[in-house]
Amino acid sequence: MPKITGFEVHDVRFPTSLTGDGTDAMNTDCDYSSAYITLLTDSELVGHGMTFTIGRGNDIVCMAIREVANRLIGKDTEELFADMGKTWEFMMSDPQLRWIGPEKGVIHIATGAVNNALWDMYARSRQKPLWKLVVDFSPEELVRSAAWRYISDAITKEEALDMLKKIESTKAEREAKVREIGYPAYVTSAGWLGYSDEKVARLTKEAVAMGFNHFKMKVGADQANDLRRGKIIRSIIDDPQYLPAGTHPRDPNSEDLKGKNAGPTGSVLMIDANQVWDVPQAIEYVKGLEEIKPWFIEEPTAPDDVLGHAAIRKALKPHGIGVATGEHAHNRMVFKQLLQAEAIDVCQIDSCRLAGVSEVISVLLMSAKFGVPVCPHAGGVGLCEYVIHLSLIDYIAISGTMERNVLEFVDHLHEHFITPCSINSKGRYNVPTNPLEGYSIEMFQTSIAEYEWPNGSYWLSAKGKKA
Ligand SMILES: [Mg+2]
Repeated sequence: MPKITGFEVHDVRFPTSLTGDGTDAMNTDCDYSSAYITLLTDSELVGHGMTFTIGRGNDIVCMAIREVANRLIGKDTEELFADMGKTWEFMMSDPQLRWIGPEKGVIHIATGAVNNALWDMYARSRQKPLWKLVVDFSPEELVRSAAWRYISDAITKEEALDMLKKIESTKAEREAKVREIGYPAYVTSAGWLGYSDEKVARLTKEAVAMGFNHFKMKVGADQANDLRRGKIIRSIIDDPQYLPAGTHPRDPNSEDLKGKNAGPTGSVLMIDANQVWDVPQAIEYVKGLEEIKPWFIEEPTAPDDVLGHAAIRKALKPHGIGVATGEHAHNRMVFKQLLQAEAIDVCQIDSCRLAGVSEVISVLLMSAKFGVPVCPHAGGVGLCEYVIHLSLIDYIAISGTMERNVLEFVDHLHEHFITPCSINSKGRYNVPTNPLEGYSIEMFQTSIAEYEWPNGSYWLSAKGKKA
């Protein structure tokens, strides 16, 4: 059986700060970056993985990735694949590396990159896309693949098993359905803070024409500004004249849209503050945006502040506005507490801030038990490629529903991936079907050569030096 013999790590950075892509109230100057790893074996088999950062510090993550990946050298791949939960524990339990976490910060996102690379390798070895590998697991195998330490007060393995068995017999129906119609998505690219009103209006019209019906706008720098931009977006998404030809408005009172503050065409607006406020400030600021009828406020305050989120949710409930968070929740225990404290309406896991697929499965299981829909964070670079797999696992094998879920889609940087994600004419993610694409995160060698920091051809060019 193949053994892991080594790895390559690349610090890849894209100059997105030049265009204002990705700008929000907290992150004003982002160079979307990938700390990228390829695990090598003594056979043809490889595994690609990455974690996401927004520029400086990506080199520090790459160093941590090397430390974590070192633990896998010499291991038999089939032994690792046979119990991915146990493998995950092994990756987490370096007695010295643990001190610089545990389970948070650089070391944790680095572990995410390596765990994801191992899952990619596992899927490639079975010639299935990652989501298909996992949904074909028996309930026992799926439970065995998760990260279980520290969460048994929220969900036990036995409860998880019961839950999975209840929907096991209908997995094939759901798989067929989502292959046909795609997975619901929403669009963020129209509402970056660094864009002009004209650009926001143009991009919103384009997004409506592409079939999207959930839209997200960045807020938090200036309330009057946010209100003006929100009204521009609502004026477009609520107006049936912009719907694609032959599309009927969705019923805002339908089961799928209930509680989402959908407008007359069934369109939904979400807002995202990227952690800028204190708790009382968040409550006051968001109340002031009630007029634009957001479904939820995302990341209103510090990502670790579980009780703060709970307080905000309680205060905004009478105003019909929910709370979402999770892209900066650094481990499954934070999600556990958010769920236990009834602090969130929507759970936004990040595919590589959590330490890879195994820890994500734990959060999917907890969210399903607590009845909170998972709407993964995406965008950046590579995140959209990853998360469609996670949402398919959630829908087909774990929660059994996708009707109220929406998966973030941002149309940036997909051209650097060999098997990029794609959106159908109804604004939904297509299901990845290439049996050799694993976790869909393999980057073109040419992209790595161009954008590797600091010696890639782009960064050595006059343009790169200026950036
Ligand atoms: Mg966000």
